[in-house]
Amino acid sequence: MAVPKRRTSKARKAKRRTHFKLEVPGMIACPECGELKKSHHVCPSCGKYDGKEVVSVG
Ligand SMILES: [Zn+2]
Repeated sequence: MAVPKRRTSKARKAKRRTHFKLEVPGMIACPECGELKKSHHVCPSCGKYDGKEVVSVG
């Protein structure tokens, strides 16, 4: 069985993990109500997308 010859150094481990980060969804403030919403999605709080009401809320 293949076994690592050297132990991975702290620096090498840290460098590898620079690509290892939490995926943050593209959240923006809604231009209509200012609530945080996902970009390219209808706002869940005011139901508007691109200035037009698409979904009625409440
Ligand atoms: Zn909104």
